[in-house]
Amino acid sequence: MLKFVVIAIAGYFLFKLIMGDKRKKAETISQKNKDLAAEGIMIKDPVCGTFVPKDTDIRVKQGSDVHCFCSYECRDTYVKQLEEKQG
Ligand SMILES: [Zn+2]
Repeated sequence: MLKFVVIAIAGYFLFKLIMGDKRKKAETISQKNKDLAAEGIMIKDPVCGTFVPKDTDIRVKQGSDVHCFCSYECRDTYVKQLEEKQG
């Protein structure tokens, strides 16, 4: 599922590049995501680094921290890593 999304996004930006929009758009979106992350609207998926909306359903509460994930695959990976750390 994530691969499909990445391919779709990559294809979109490739299309934009071909249309003469250059990389500026990608940089703008990247910056926008960082701004949203700074405002607490978007949260970075700790597994793959994707920015996801804070109100996503795919989340793990760990003490006072809440981690949000782009997919159940990433969430499971994170939970497994936690379990390994805890032994
Ligand atoms: Zn992810």
